[in-house]
Amino acid sequence: MHLKSNLPKKILVWYDKNKRNLPWRVGKKSPKKLYYRLLSEFMLQQTQVKTVIPYFQKFIQKYRTLASLSKCSETEVLKLWEGLGYYRRAKNLLISSKMLVKQYNSKLPTTVKEIKKLPGVGDYTANALLGLVHNKPTIAIDGNVRRVFSRIFNKKESNINFEKFTEINKKILFGTNRNSDFVEALMEFGALICKPKDPKCANCYLNKTCKYFNSSNKIKSTKNKMIKNKNYDVFCYVNRKKQMALTKKNNVGFLKNFNLPRIEETHSDAKTKGWKFLKKYKNSISNMKLNINLYYKFSKKIPPSFDWYSIYKNKEFIPSFTKKVFSQIVILFV
Ligand code: SF4
Repeated sequence: MHLKSNLPKKILVWYDKNKRNLPWRVGKKSPKKLYYRLLSEFMLQQTQVKTVIPYFQKFIQKYRTLASLSKCSETEVLKLWEGLGYYRRAKNLLISSKMLVKQYNSKLPTTVKEIKKLPGVGDYTANALLGLVHNKPTIAIDGNVRRVFSRIFNKKESNINFEKFTEINKKILFGTNRNSDFVEALMEFGALICKPKDPKCANCYLNKTCKYFNSSNKIKSTKNKMIKNKNYDVFCYVNRKKQMALTKKNNVGFLKNFNLPRIEETHSDAKTKGWKFLKKYKNSISNMKLNINLYYKFSKKIPPSFDWYSIYKNKEFIPSFTKKVFSQIVILFV
């Protein structure tokens, strides 16, 4: 699977003419480059560009530099992140900013191994940052890039070893001195031209040599992750002050260590004695559809790790899962 030698040039020409004007794309010598790239890469994990832009703007207005972000509290950063979802990213962003400022003198390390020491940074983000910030020869293999290369060869993504593929083609992929632009151009090309559905083949600079375009037997790209259905029982302690008891000491994978009521996966012998059933409702979190059975109990006593929170307004960050529980339980007080 050898790439045509002019592929980077063609993609870069397309990119120079068509790239979007995104707020984190600052000049190569800008002192804000590391901060903007770090912030945007964290925000863009699992989230679309158009959703991220207003959050990115809010962050850079409130925290103008990496150093100022690193000094804020977890509650502040979570509050500003509120609504963007996948809140672990916000916690990891804050810890990463502190590490970069204190341990690395506000500079990005120069190897993937070192960059991956930052929490929440895996292979993809480390390679993206290395390329974007240091202009190092690297490719950040995300879903877009996988799709582009698998289509060029009209092969299933699962039949391509991308590490080996990059190694075989490294002279071509890294033959430009615009590594930083090429990392971004490939992702942009996947997002705007070689899109998951309806690729814009007629306008594509690669269509003459693309095997997908020229084949009568087109291999379809990998489908998005399957949505999982999960059933949970949620148990809410409430009091007459319109408060609900929440704890951070929970082991619920999708919101571990965030403020939640007691949650258990539904099973036939669930211990619901002493709890009143309120209602069933549905909620969605990342790639899960949750079917919730909501129970409540008026009580002055709560378990030691729990604290009372207003069901209306709190200074502390409350995840949207819990806010939805609040909005259901409010019926007890009207
Ligand atoms: S010709 Fe179509 S399938 Fe091939 S790279 Fe271009 S957009 Fe993708």
